[in-house]
Amino acid sequence: MRMRKKKWADPYLQDHDDFCFSNPIDLKGKWKTLLNTKELHVEIGCGKGDYFNEMALAYPNTGWVAIEKDHSAAAVACKKSIEEYENLQNKRMIVNDASNLMDWFEEGEIDVIHLNFSDPWPKKYTHKRRLSSEKFLKMYYALLSKNGYIQMKTDNKDLFESSVLYFLENQFQITDISVDYRRNKHEEDAITEYERRFMDLNQPIYFLIAKPIKNK
Ligand code: SAH
Repeated sequence: MRMRKKKWADPYLQDHDDFCFSNPIDLKGKWKTLLNTKELHVEIGCGKGDYFNEMALAYPNTGWVAIEKDHSAAAVACKKSIEEYENLQNKRMIVNDASNLMDWFEEGEIDVIHLNFSDPWPKKYTHKRRLSSEKFLKMYYALLSKNGYIQMKTDNKDLFESSVLYFLENQFQITDISVDYRRNKHEEDAITEYERRFMDLNQPIYFLIAKPIKNK
C-alpha cells in the first residue's frame, strides 16, 4: 500500500538531514559510537515509524536506525520522531533503498535487523524484491554480529512460508517461530502500524527469529 505523496516531505527531510540521512557512507562502522550504544538495531521499511520510535524509547540503551525508501512515509516518521519523542539521541533514519545497506554499515556492525510487515511482492517475477529474498539475506548475513539475528513479523502467509525457506537456504537457522504471535501480548515488542490494523481485523501475526550460522 503506497501513501499519497506529500508535498512537504522532501523539504522537511532536507531541513532535518542531521536526523534523516540520505546516504550516510561516512557513518559506516561508526553507528555505535554515534548512538552511544553496544547494541545496534536496524529496522528496514519502517513506514511511519511507530515501531522504532517506541522501541528506542522503551530501550534507551539500544541504538536504532530506521530505513525507509518512500519519502512521504519517511517524512511522517521523521516528523513524528522529532515532534513527539523527546529523546533523539539513540536513533537516526536513512531515507533510501535498503539495497545500498553495504555502503552504510560495516560487516558485523548490526546486532538485530527488524523486518516488519515487508511488502509481500506476490507475483513470482517480483519475489527477488522481497526484503527477505536471497540478495538481502546475503547482505544481512555479512552485516550481522556473531550473536546477531533477524526478527520478522508479517500478516502474509505466503511471504512468511517462503521466507522460512529463504532463511534455511542461506545459512540461517530459525530459533523462534509463531503463527499467532499476538495471541500472547508480548509487551516487550512494540506494535507497528500495519500490525495494529491486522490485529484489529483478528488476523494472526506471523513471527520468527532467524540467526546466521557463523562458525568463527
Ligand atoms: N513497518 C511498517 C510499514 C510496513 S509497509 C509497519 O509495519 O507498519 C513496508 C514498508 O517498507 C513501506 O513503507 C516501503 O516503502 C518500505 N520498503 C520496501 N522496500 C524497501 C527497501 N528496499 N528499502 C527501504 N524501504 C523499503
